[in-house]
Amino acid sequence: MDTLIKSLVQANFAPERIIPRAPMARFTTFRVGGPADVLVNIDSAAEISVALRAARAAGVPVTIIGNGSNLLVRDGGIRGLVMRISQPMSAITCEGDTLHVQAGATLPAVAGFAQRSGLEGLAPMAGIPGTIGGAVIMNAGAYGGEMSQVVTRVDAIARSDGKPIRFEGRALGFAYRHSAMMDAGVIVTDVTLRLTPGDPDAIARRTEELLVARREKQPLEYPSAGSTFKRPEGAFAAKLIDDAGLKGLRIGDAQVSEKHAGFIVNLGSATASDILALMAEVQSRVLAASGITLEPEVRILGEDA
Ligand SMILES: Cc1cc2nc3c(=O)[nH]c(=O)nc-3n(C[C@H](O)[C@H](O)[C@H](O)COP(=O)(O)OP(=O)(O)OC[C@H]3O[C@@H](n4cnc5c(N)ncnc54)[C@H](O)[C@@H]3O)c2cc1C
Repeated sequence: MDTLIKSLVQANFAPERIIPRAPMARFTTFRVGGPADVLVNIDSAAEISVALRAARAAGVPVTIIGNGSNLLVRDGGIRGLVMRISQPMSAITCEGDTLHVQAGATLPAVAGFAQRSGLEGLAPMAGIPGTIGGAVIMNAGAYGGEMSQVVTRVDAIARSDGKPIRFEGRALGFAYRHSAMMDAGVIVTDVTLRLTPGDPDAIARRTEELLVARREKQPLEYPSAGSTFKRPEGAFAAKLIDDAGLKGLRIGDAQVSEKHAGFIVNLGSATASDILALMAEVQSRVLAASGITLEPEVRILGEDA
C-alpha cells in the first residue's frame, strides 16, 4: 500500500486526508467490518479522477462508499483504495423546481432543503440515512416514494478511463433497488432532481409524520443497514421472517430485530460473520417455511478475516 499512498501524495492529496488501515466499522451504520487498506475522503469530482489514476498506477482495486448505510463489510476488510463521497462534496443549489445536488449530500439534508424551498417529492425519503449518490445507485425509496420519481439526470465518472458520463431519462435504468449506474459501476458525482412546487408548512408536516412512523416501526436505537433483504415479488420480507417465527433470533450479537423483522441489528459487538451467518439462517428457514428465497438488499463488501 506504500505505493498507493505515495501516488496519492504525489497527486496532491494532503497526507492527513489519507487514512491507512481505516476501520470500516467507523464508516458504516452497521458498525462492523475490518480495515480498508487505504481510505480517502473525496472533496471534488476532479479529485475522483486523480484518485482513480493513483489507484491504477499502484495496481489496486477501488471501492466507492457514501454514508455506509447499506453496507456490510466483512471482518477481513477491503483491499485497495476506498473513496468515501460524503460531506465534503455535498453542495445543493436550486433553480426553479430543479435541485442540483452533489453526490455526498445526505437525503435528510436534501429533503430539508427542498422543504424550505417549497418543493415537494422528497418527504418519503427524508428519513433514509444515506447520501444521494448511494440513493440513486440503489434507487432508494420508502412510503411509496422512490428516487426514480424525482431524478432526471445523473453525472458520474467512468471507472475505466476517469472520464465524465451522463445518464438521463430512460438511460437511468431505474428498477426496484437497482439502476443503470449500479450496472455500469460508475462513480456518481452530481444528481439533478425535478420536484413539484408545494406549501413548505404542509411538506414539513408530511415529513414529520413519516419520520414519526419510521421511529415507531424501526429499531433506530441499534446499528443496522436498514432492511436486510429485498422485497420479494408479491410478498414482504419482514412478514415472511416474522411468520417463520424468527423475530429475536440471534447469532452472537447479531439479532433479527424484535421490533421489525426486516432489520438485522447489531446489539453491540456483532461481527460481520455473525451477521452473515444470521442472514444465511434466516434465508434457509424462510425458504423452508414459505418456498421463497430472500435476496440481500445490503451490499456485501470485502474479505473474510
Ligand atoms: C436505519 C436505516 C433505514 C433505512 N431506510 C431505508 C429506506 O427506507 N429505503 C431505502 O431504500 N433504503 C434505506 N436504508 C438503506 C440506505 O440508507 C440506502 O440504501 C441509502 O441510499 C444508501 O446510501 P449510502 O450513501 O449510505 O450508500 P452506501 O451504503 O455507502 O453504498 C451503497 C451502494 O452505493 C454505492 N455508492 C455509494 N455512493 C456512491 C457514489 N457516489 N457513486 C457510486 N456508487 C456509490 C456503494 O458502492 C454501494 O454499492 C436504510 C438504512 C438504515 C441504516
